[in-house]
Amino acid sequence: MNKKKLTMSDLQLSEDGYLLCPECNGFMSRKSGAYGDYWGCNNYKTLGCKFSIKYLGSLDNSLIDLVKRNEIEKLKDCIKSGNKFAVDNNGNTLLMLAVIYGQEDLAKALVESNIDVNQTDKNGNTALMLALKEYPNFDYRVLLEKNCYSIYTKNNENWSPLEFAIHNNLKGIILEFINNGATIDGSILRWAIKIDYIEFIERYFEQTGISVNAHDASGNTFLMYAIKNNSVECAEFFLKKGANIYKPNKRGQCALSLARNNTNSKMMELINKYKGSI
Ligand SMILES: [Zn+2]
Repeated sequence: MNKKKLTMSDLQLSEDGYLLCPECNGFMSRKSGAYGDYWGCNNYKTLGCKFSIKYLGSLDNSLIDLVKRNEIEKLKDCIKSGNKFAVDNNGNTLLMLAVIYGQEDLAKALVESNIDVNQTDKNGNTALMLALKEYPNFDYRVLLEKNCYSIYTKNNENWSPLEFAIHNNLKGIILEFINNGATIDGSILRWAIKIDYIEFIERYFEQTGISVNAHDASGNTFLMYAIKNNSVECAEFFLKKGANIYKPNKRGQCALSLARNNTNSKMMELINKYKGSI
């Protein structure tokens, strides 16, 4: 028996990323015992190695190393042998580590191996959320399982992948999520108006069939939102669709009066073109 108590980080790794026995330098593997799972030497029967170390249900450095080195086939084997749900000290799953280390092929392989794409870290974030939040260059598509359920999950702060995409202004991704069935709500629409995202707004009208003169609880119309946000292109889009510039909100303001109070001359010019047209 070793006198000094060894920890996981004291152990050596083979070139392939497997844990090595400190007694015989042979491979160790995960084993089950009366007191739970542990890492033990594969040679304990033949060589009598007694060293073992408790399996903490966490990703050991050898696995993290495999992610770093993009060892796809070896990681697939590891998943089969029960590392599917394991996390590192920070709560990152294998899939999240693939995102962190920019391994897109690996992430794809993990998803195909039926790893749980919706497994979350301490903050309730999935790998997809992590990618959208912090790694916008990572091809998030590889993180979507067939039915794209992962679009709808929310983290502990009630953020969905769609909301992360909006926050980081990932326009193409947002449109793709919408095409995959994510629901457009008022906050998303207001965002789209704010940045003059016409393609998105067109899609919204197609999807909902809503009237261009529909209004919110305060009586504000889409056109009013556009005027308030100085979104000239959006305003023009709504006007072409037949937005009424005289329809008042609950405070008695109409699109025309809002435009007059707005210092944007382009907006006023635009509204003036539609005066008397309805
Ligand atoms: Zn050994």
